[in-house]
Amino acid sequence: MGKALCVALLSVFSAILAACGLPTDWLEGAPPPPVENGLTVKVLAVGQGDAILIRTPEQTILIDTGDTSETGRLRAALKHEGVRRVDKLIITHPHRDHIGGAAMVFRTCDVKEVYDNGQPTSTNVYRDYLKTIQKQKIPSRTLRDGDMLDLGGGATLRVLSPTQEMVDERGMQNGKVNLNLNSLVARLEYGDFSMMLTGDAEIPSEEGILRRHSPETLRCKILKAGHHGSKTASSVDFLRILDADAVLISCGEDNEYHCPHPSVLARYEKQELDVFRTDRNGTITVRTDGKTYSVETERGERSGVEAKS
Ligand SMILES: [Zn+2]
Repeated sequence: MGKALCVALLSVFSAILAACGLPTDWLEGAPPPPVENGLTVKVLAVGQGDAILIRTPEQTILIDTGDTSETGRLRAALKHEGVRRVDKLIITHPHRDHIGGAAMVFRTCDVKEVYDNGQPTSTNVYRDYLKTIQKQKIPSRTLRDGDMLDLGGGATLRVLSPTQEMVDERGMQNGKVNLNLNSLVARLEYGDFSMMLTGDAEIPSEEGILRRHSPETLRCKILKAGHHGSKTASSVDFLRILDADAVLISCGEDNEYHCPHPSVLARYEKQELDVFRTDRNGTITVRTDGKTYSVETERGERSGVEAKS
């Protein structure tokens, strides 16, 4: 089919959609090439928050949705990626910088299933999230240590944390609830490739994972830095057992939390990890065929390690 004919057909299709009152802006621009084989993971640059897009040969999975204030960036990123259907939306924990864009995702994408850790909180954002799931009748379930989620095309997600007991204890720390402690932590597996997805899990969560799981189960090629590279995560023991090649940090430009922390960057350096970070590199893309993998950045040199003693 000639290009002119293609464009003409697209215009006619847009006009029909517009006449039906449906949004047409998702059709503009060249759609990205479909994932035919292999797995792609994109740590999207959405400021100080997490949003990770996984595309397997069969499914599109979104882990977390960034902050409420960054909804525009997530929407633009999903549009750029041509995402209109999300087979699995996974929320690691209900803090605003992870659940904040969920309302927009429910509004603009066809969300097939929702997964979270089942730990409630009292915020309006969380209440609206539950209400929407109910209203749109989206199947939802909680994930626990030991669960295996089939992501299609040979990709799986092995859930490592939290346990039911941890959720029952509500992540109490020094007399206060710390929602980060019960973040979903899972190992993405595709052939020989594996990536550790950590949400905002902190060192006590990492210690539990090390106690419950063998080093063979935890070893991975790539680590998504826990808690935006904060010093509350990425313990030396955890990094040593994971034995990853690279770490991807999702953090905002000049963020008020000063993430990543210099002491954590020093730990990464000691472990000889290649460091990539969304504040400097923009969206970070990992592509793998299940044997080898590559890491691409949107901009900038790969971040050097700025360790300060
Ligand atoms: Zn966070």
